[in-house]
Amino acid sequence: MKRACRDRPLPRTCLNTAVATHAKAKPPVERRQRRRVPPMMLASGGAYVANVSLFGACAALGMLRPMRIAEYVGMVALWLALLFASAAWAPKLLGSGARSTFGQLLFAMFPGLYVAAAMGDSIGRIAFAMLVSGALVWGVLWLNARLFLLLTLSYAGGYLLLVDFLHWRQAGSIDLVAECVIGASLLACGVSIAALGAYVSSVRSRLVQRSAELRETMARIELQTIRDELTGLANRRCVLQTLREAAGPAPTAGRVAGPLSVVVFDLDHFKRINDLHGHAAGDEVLRRVSSRLSLLLQPGHTLGRLGGEELLLLLPLTDAAAALREADRLRREVAAIDFADVAQGLRVTMSCGVASAVRASAHAAIDVDGLLQRADHAMYRAKSLGRDRVHAAEHAGG
Ligand code: GH3
Ligand code: MG
Ligand code: MG
Repeated sequence: MKRACRDRPLPRTCLNTAVATHAKAKPPVERRQRRRVPPMMLASGGAYVANVSLFGACAALGMLRPMRIAEYVGMVALWLALLFASAAWAPKLLGSGARSTFGQLLFAMFPGLYVAAAMGDSIGRIAFAMLVSGALVWGVLWLNARLFLLLTLSYAGGYLLLVDFLHWRQAGSIDLVAECVIGASLLACGVSIAALGAYVSSVRSRLVQRSAELRETMARIELQTIRDELTGLANRRCVLQTLREAAGPAPTAGRVAGPLSVVVFDLDHFKRINDLHGHAAGDEVLRRVSSRLSLLLQPGHTLGRLGGEELLLLLPLTDAAAALREADRLRREVAAIDFADVAQGLRVTMSCGVASAVRASAHAAIDVDGLLQRADHAMYRAKSLGRDRVHAAEHAGG
């Protein structure tokens, strides 16, 4: 029984932060990739310009043929064009975060290895090792320890293959000791950056987890501020805010001009139930009545707890006659609830006051205070006429 009210969605007008934070949870991969393109373009463009300047200096010192630099630029330009085209038109291909960063950093190795192979001597290849270490630092923000190690091993392995290739092609002219020192430094550098990356990635995942927890807590707090603790119905603040929203000037977005009705329900002799059967029994009665009413609500209608044993039902686009029929149907349903397990012979009834209003003009708002006052008077009139009945307010107006 208790679940019915909690399962029923609360009015959207009251759910500002909760709805907004859930909606904001995570943009799709396409949007995230597109958002990453301009900073990515700037960063990788900057890094490649620095590389070309360094290779230019090597060429000026006679360590590298200028043609190799032109080939390097061609390879990089082609790669960047493919990368950005994919980010713009086929973002899913790139994936997001770790996978795409891993792919990009792995590919960056090939043009670098090509230039390293073309260097006249080992000193030029030190430049390659330094550039690779610089590229690895990029992965710190995105890669986990496993991917980082894999990347480092790929770089070191690529360098070993390069040395092997050079040894096979120009045996004798290659300084194997120097090359091994460069390869080992590359590996050591990579491992230490990987350790840093592992730490950064653990901090990152903790941050991501904390922010998800924070979002959840905020949504829970928001729900607590709009849901009545005992009954699970919309609380007074929420139901009145929904009423004010429904009574606002029409037509505006999503609102249609038409009659608006409200029903005030008040349980009869509720104090007596408390006095005779205890406060806990009174609470159970309130919960059960709210739950039953929630299950019976028609789409578009909102039920909230005004306070104590008083509930408010909002019926947008419903005229007085239809509201009266609906209130009477609900009154009869409540009177039929079985409370035998709460207290033997307990029967609960309620008195209902119905009031309706129409807008004076399409752009006028309905007087909410006047509407509630009329419904309240009608409810007291139902009490004075003998309780367990529905009474309609006499004067309906805008
Ligand atoms: P009437 O038919 O005229 O409405 O009589 P009544 O006894 O229902 O009205 P009255 O205003 O005299 O008493 C309402 C009682 O409701 C008094 C209050 O202790 C009790 N009440 C208010 N909120 C709660 C609640 O959350 N739980 C319980 N168990 N009782 C509550
Ligand atoms: Mg009351
Ligand atoms: Mg009462």
